[in-house]
Amino acid sequence: MAIKNVTVAGSGVLGSQIAYQTAYKGFKVVVYDINEDAINKAKDRIKNLRHMYKHDIAATDADFEAGLSRISYTWDLAEAVKNADLVIEAIPERPDIKKDFYTKIAKLAPKDAIFTSNSSTLVPSMFMEDTGRPAQFLNMHFANQVWLNNTAEIMGSPKTDPDIYKEIVQFARDIGMIPIELKKEQPGYILNSLLIPLLSAGEGLWVKGVADPQMIDKTWMAATGAPMGPFAILDVVGIRTAYNITLAQAKNDKDPNAQVLADKLKELLDEGKLGMEAGEGFYHY
Ligand code: NAD
Repeated sequence: MAIKNVTVAGSGVLGSQIAYQTAYKGFKVVVYDINEDAINKAKDRIKNLRHMYKHDIAATDADFEAGLSRISYTWDLAEAVKNADLVIEAIPERPDIKKDFYTKIAKLAPKDAIFTSNSSTLVPSMFMEDTGRPAQFLNMHFANQVWLNNTAEIMGSPKTDPDIYKEIVQFARDIGMIPIELKKEQPGYILNSLLIPLLSAGEGLWVKGVADPQMIDKTWMAATGAPMGPFAILDVVGIRTAYNITLAQAKNDKDPNAQVLADKLKELLDEGKLGMEAGEGFYHY
């Protein structure tokens, strides 16, 4: 089946980007969210992508407008999915919300429609039975700023049909992504399975007083040729996010090192060093 009509469900940070990128690349897109207010926010988010597309990938105004013209919006779920060849789900990272969503669209979408999830941490076998079509369900995970950081990690459940998997790999290419094909389920996919241990190891060396962040980054860059070390990456992620994750770890694991790290990150936050976006974090920008 050729994919023509795509529904993107959830139009927050990632959903709005995925919807626009898909429309920019020539597909007809329906954006679905829960109510009029959420849809109005989505329209603003999508309109605001214009200067990024112009600045980052040299899109012309005409290109950008053509993308916009292919998008329609609704907060009626039956309407949203009735003609979908593909539903891309980008709703909150809460299993109860996702389960409820899949149970509903299982009955509303055409029976040969494919469903994909943009979940960052939840594997497709958690929801495959709720979709009513386990063979046509898999994860396709985008990175923030999809037009620039254009990876799509593609991960099936044990029940995903290999032909459907291939179709989604091709679709990812068609919307300008680099498909990253996972052969089995892995929480965190490939990228976060590599990145999170690297960031944690860097933080651990800092907390233990082995070296300061700049020396740790310098070691990683000089020895491997990587353009950034763990602390420069944390500046991109944002110190507030790093702090929130560490604080949760300190509470859940009662790990004394996590608490020391949280305190160190809090000092940066109190000094307004929020990371790259704020012009300063571990480094000046
Ligand atoms: P977000 O909070 O910005 O947006 C979520 C959207 O879903 C909101 O517009 C909300 O109104 C809507 N929503 C809530 N309940 C809904 C429902 N029942 N049906 C339809 N829409 C509903 O979240 P986000 O950051 O865009 O994350 C969405 C998904 O994408 C999550 O699974 C997350 O793990 C994943 N993700 C996020 C990022 C990121 O950097 N933010 C990166 C990769 C993947």
